[in-house]
Amino acid sequence: MFKSFGHTYVLLPFSAPRQCNICGYTGKFGHAGLYCIRPDAICMSCRSTDRERLFVLYLQKWQWAPEGKSILHFAAELNLVDRLRPRADHYTSADLFMASADVACNIENIDCEDRQFDAVVCFHVLEHVDTPKALRELRGCSDPVERRF
Ligand SMILES: [Zn+2]
Repeated sequence: MFKSFGHTYVLLPFSAPRQCNICGYTGKFGHAGLYCIRPDAICMSCRSTDRERLFVLYLQKWQWAPEGKSILHFAAELNLVDRLRPRADHYTSADLFMASADVACNIENIDCEDRQFDAVVCFHVLEHVDTPKALRELRGCSDPVERRF
């Protein structure tokens, strides 16, 4: 067992040490998920998830640069906010419930101008909402050339 940020993680005995591409931590990672366990998903130092580290890897490998772009980030993960906000020309975090979000916004009814944003970053949200409705809203507010996520 390992405690971090008030959560208890079980470190699987067969886990091998890994390195976090966000904070540089090297060691065993915790697993995530209640019903479908993802081994080695949580960095025990910065608490980043596997999908956050994958997105950072995507930014690094494919050199998708937020510089000069306006980005709308739903359910903003703090590890990604730190990477996107300082580099984007215009960055807006949005969430219906998160007090730290720049705007309180329902992904099924986004109040913005057509194609106001170059890109939308959105992880782990669509499975919790009316997906076709949310995708229509995301298409309406983002540039079709930059639409990747
Ligand atoms: Zn980390």
